Amino acid sequence: MFIKDNLQTIKETAAKDVILVAVSKTKPIADIKEAYDAGHKIFGENKIQEMVQKYEALPKDIEWHMIGHLQRNKVKYMAHFVSLIHGVDSLKTLTEINKQAIKHNRVIPCLLQARIAQEETKFGLDFEEIEQILRSDDLKALENIKIVGLMGMASFTDDEDQISSEYKSLKIFFEKLKNSNSDSKTLNIKLDTLSMGMSGDYKIALLNGSNMIRVGSAIFGERNYIT
Ligand SMILES: *Cc1c(COP(=O)(O)O)cnc(C)c1O
Repeated sequence: MFIKDNLQTIKETAAKDVILVAVSKTKPIADIKEAYDAGHKIFGENKIQEMVQKYEALPKDIEWHMIGHLQRNKVKYMAHFVSLIHGVDSLKTLTEINKQAIKHNRVIPCLLQARIAQEETKFGLDFEEIEQILRSDDLKALENIKIVGLMGMASFTDDEDQISSEYKSLKIFFEKLKNSNSDSKTLNIKLDTLSMGMSGDYKIALLNGSNMIRVGSAIFGERNYIT
């Protein structure tokens, strides 16, 4: 029953309008079912194939979030059901998601991944690149995707001030973008989601304005294998 208790504890920490994505990567169906039976319906995975298998095995009212780095050639496997894609970091990937969404006659919500960590990381866009994508004419043509916000990961460090300042910088940028896009004529941009915070730092993320947290090990325990 620890999964249910952990979910409860985290939900009590977060304000009502904060969305909790329970990150179930590497965890068996039985664990997800336990969270589901406790009333939780939003799960995150970082591998497309693993998410597809779990989608097929579990109730269809679950919302599946793809939180990992995307391999473009695998987008097609999840295009019919994925609820939100967190880690989008190029116009090329948005174009592929759009193409696959058209096949299923749906609009797929996406978050652009911002690079905020000081440590070297291959993933994510800097703020300038995000602005370029949001302004681009190419984006306007992608009618089957919708950019609904930003996602960021802080540095892997014990330094809480650093984590806090990284999240704060993304929150400030997010608000700035929201203001400048509020009268946007681009219909496929509607910024309302800021996905920041994992098991080790979600409290800091919440203090800095996150409204979507992605929590795995603090719900399900240590990962069953390295991803
Ligand atoms: C694994 C993962 C998480 C959850 O990590 P925990 O530390 O177990 O909470 C959150 N976001 C992303 C992008 C991940 O890959």
